Amino acid sequence: MKILLVTSEALPYIKSGGLADFIYSFGKALKDKGHEVSVILPLYKAIRDRHQEVLTDLYDTYDFKMDWRTQGCGVFHHRIDDIDFYFTAMDRFDRDGMYGYGDDNERFACFMMAVNTFLTRHNDYDVVHCNDWQTAVLPLLLRFNPKPIKTILTIHNPAFQGWASRDDLRRFFNLHTDYYDSGLVRMGDSFNYLKTGIMTADKISTVSQTHCQELLHDHDGFGGIGAVLDWCRHNDFVGIVNGLDVDIWDPATDDKLARNYTLYDYKVGKRANREKILNDLGMSTSFRGALYSCITRLSGQKGIDRLISCMAELKKSDSRLIIIGTGDMENEVLAHALQHPEVYFVKRYDENLAHLLYAASDYFLMPSYFEPCGTSQMIAMRYGTVPIVSNVGGLNDTVKDINLGYEATGFVFNNNDPTAYMNCFIASSRYFYNPGLDRLIQEGMKGDYSWARSAQEYIHLYESITWK
Ligand code: ADP
Repeated sequence: MKILLVTSEALPYIKSGGLADFIYSFGKALKDKGHEVSVILPLYKAIRDRHQEVLTDLYDTYDFKMDWRTQGCGVFHHRIDDIDFYFTAMDRFDRDGMYGYGDDNERFACFMMAVNTFLTRHNDYDVVHCNDWQTAVLPLLLRFNPKPIKTILTIHNPAFQGWASRDDLRRFFNLHTDYYDSGLVRMGDSFNYLKTGIMTADKISTVSQTHCQELLHDHDGFGGIGAVLDWCRHNDFVGIVNGLDVDIWDPATDDKLARNYTLYDYKVGKRANREKILNDLGMSTSFRGALYSCITRLSGQKGIDRLISCMAELKKSDSRLIIIGTGDMENEVLAHALQHPEVYFVKRYDENLAHLLYAASDYFLMPSYFEPCGTSQMIAMRYGTVPIVSNVGGLNDTVKDINLGYEATGFVFNNNDPTAYMNCFIASSRYFYNPGLDRLIQEGMKGDYSWARSAQEYIHLYESITWK
């Protein structure tokens, strides 16, 4: 099959979260199974500045209309790891950041229109796989493509949906407002990109089975998107858990570590990495308790209030916590971290330090309120760091709770019980001295987090689209 992954971010070029990991590692897994894989994403200023190699092959140039306006677009091509990456170069993406602008709905409309035009000019794909709201109107646009193409939409985070107005259907996409008036693309009083994709893609997926069930059963959450899925697309909606890029995330070969290690020498390996990070950050190495870590976007979804609530407990067990993160709650985290000498807060996006911290720490905190899949908990387990997670979404599907005995890999607490997180945190600080901790570490390190099985499930999903 010839598959086009449409995305707003992708490694190895640009990343703000798990979506970028997903595209690159999933793309490689599809290719390993014998499929032809291409990825298309916007050419952000940051890619242009840091990856000038992508600018050497100008693959195509064209204009397209957005209502009365004519938009020019250049498409650059770069092949890496046998995957063809295409970058749409347009003025609206020539800015310092990726997201967070007032006109994001228009910017990504522009991207989708550029991809739609690309697909009329390069019309040999079997499947177009869209990801999140930034690409979700494409299945509707592709209905007008001269050659039918199978479409799927993967929901990585239903909290972000892309809102525009009724008139924007015409202004941005040259589409008739009937689509709005009939309710197809409308949510409340807005034109909703994510709903558009849910209603018009051939198949819809999300990134874990538990999150799929959560969405189908929670009709009120995420502005009612779960109700749309349940009522309108129940039979076409599946959960497939993400894999991890086990080549990048491998403590035996990771060149960002002070010392590499495997299941057989993880104790010395982790100790060396712990000393390195504590020294680098100017922290004392003489505490007795556990080293906790958290590497995350600092937003409400990630349970940052829970993270803050356990800071006061660290002193009692002589433990330490290192947080690496950025986001809307960074000042709140900073204010609390400053009150607790046991906490070290690194307020930036730092890939190198993140690798070292996964290897150095004993426990990884991920107390999210919702987590469609999550990659950090899998990285932590692979690096011999025991995750402490809520029982939501992909966390529930990938971490086995300590009460499960031999197959356990971490601590899983009940998201709906207000006291559960703190109890779990305290239990973990005590368990640090229990020889059973090694069993948790080893089971976690042994786990298969590769894409092999999940990539096959996606292929089955593509094949299950039978209208063609
Ligand atoms: P989400 O996609 O919701 O942000 P995931 O757990 O799926 O969450 O993915 C987060 C990824 O981003 C992980 O690989 C994590 O290590 C990385 N990450 C998050 N924040 C930072 C940061 N400040 N510095 C380095 N890596 C980060």
